[in-house]
Amino acid sequence: MKVYKAHILFTKEKDRFEVYENGYVAVGDDGRVTGVAKNLDELDCEGAEIVDFGDKLLIPAMNDMHVHAPQVHNQGVAMDLELLPWLQNYTFPEESKYADVEYAERMYRRFMHTQWLFGTMRSVVFGTVHTESTRRLMQLYQEAGMGALVGKVAMNRNCPEALCEDVEDAIAGNEQLIAEFPQLSTLNSQLSTSLVRPIITPRFVPSCTPELLKACGELANKYQLPVQSHLSENVSEIAWVAELEPESKSYGDAYNRYGLFGQTPTIMAHCVWTEGHELELMKRNGVMVAHCPTSNFNLSSGMASIRSLLDEGVRIGLGSDISGGHDLNMFRMLVYAIQVSKMHYQLNHDKAFLNLSEIFWIATKSAGSFFGKVGSFEPGYEFDALVIDDSVLYPAEYSLLHRLERFIYVGDDRQIVHRFCRGREVPEPIVK
Ligand SMILES: [Zn+2]
Repeated sequence: MKVYKAHILFTKEKDRFEVYENGYVAVGDDGRVTGVAKNLDELDCEGAEIVDFGDKLLIPAMNDMHVHAPQVHNQGVAMDLELLPWLQNYTFPEESKYADVEYAERMYRRFMHTQWLFGTMRSVVFGTVHTESTRRLMQLYQEAGMGALVGKVAMNRNCPEALCEDVEDAIAGNEQLIAEFPQLSTLNSQLSTSLVRPIITPRFVPSCTPELLKACGELANKYQLPVQSHLSENVSEIAWVAELEPESKSYGDAYNRYGLFGQTPTIMAHCVWTEGHELELMKRNGVMVAHCPTSNFNLSSGMASIRSLLDEGVRIGLGSDISGGHDLNMFRMLVYAIQVSKMHYQLNHDKAFLNLSEIFWIATKSAGSFFGKVGSFEPGYEFDALVIDDSVLYPAEYSLLHRLERFIYVGDDRQIVHRFCRGREVPEPIVK
């Protein structure tokens, strides 16, 4: 067991921060928090090693709930296009290069290094259709000790030949990865849930024939695997889905009919235009939204109303969605999400904009629930944590909450001095 001493801040509830000035958090050998307290004698931790972080802040690590690892090379490129032409002209040509595993590894190392810099310890990730490159990405996450649900992308229509895969091959590739990355792993002779697991990943309805969607749903059900995809991002995309799936009552229903909408844990990116039937289905099936504010701005998709979704009780996390989004710094995503909600507030004063504790809770405890007990320092939670040295931001002049707020708004990776995932410190990954 280890005990960490620092100024500890986290959000057990969405409406307020828990703040322990010079507090202690105890972490068991299994990487889970056993207690958090103001005084050491309140913790049952006799004989534990005590690590003192002094005046630094200790907060939960970030979770990126929607990101395309193979688009790292396109980050900040072609930001003047909307979704569909952008996919055809930039995304698909870049993803085609991932048939080459060496190229994939070079880019994936670059991608993960940036995630590490910004303190993102868990991700829900799109790979490409290529099984070998996706396997390599999963191995890299495993070697790094960072948590990820990684999807070999399924797509077989409306895409270049190089990214089209037969339904049988798509399923066979997935089954290989499912066998290689089992649900349980043996770590230090202790059996625990694997940090890296496959996630069933139909790209989106326009990229997948009904046969492929059906096969993906069956695969998710057979192996009880989570599902990720895109939903109601852009109005022309929604109109296209209505043409392709005329029997579905909504875009969300098009996934639901194939067992890809909450039959197993499901996360859908964007949901900018989700309402009515689709919203009811999301609530009923416990589908999580990955809100990606920078992507929605860059691709002129719209502004998701997170306040409305929150009020409706929909589960929410935040995603960078590079390279529709341009920024892998999830702390910035908190700021952008607050700013989008302030734009909504300008249009409708009946709904308050999101405040800092709400968005911090969304980014940590709410998002983390997709991985199990992640995103809080309550007992039983996996210790995913960042140590923040904000000494360059004049900490003596501010309260602890304002120090955290200033780090989120004006800080960057240089202030993150330690990163933990499931209780283990994560060293800097190698870039080649
Ligand atoms: Zn996306």
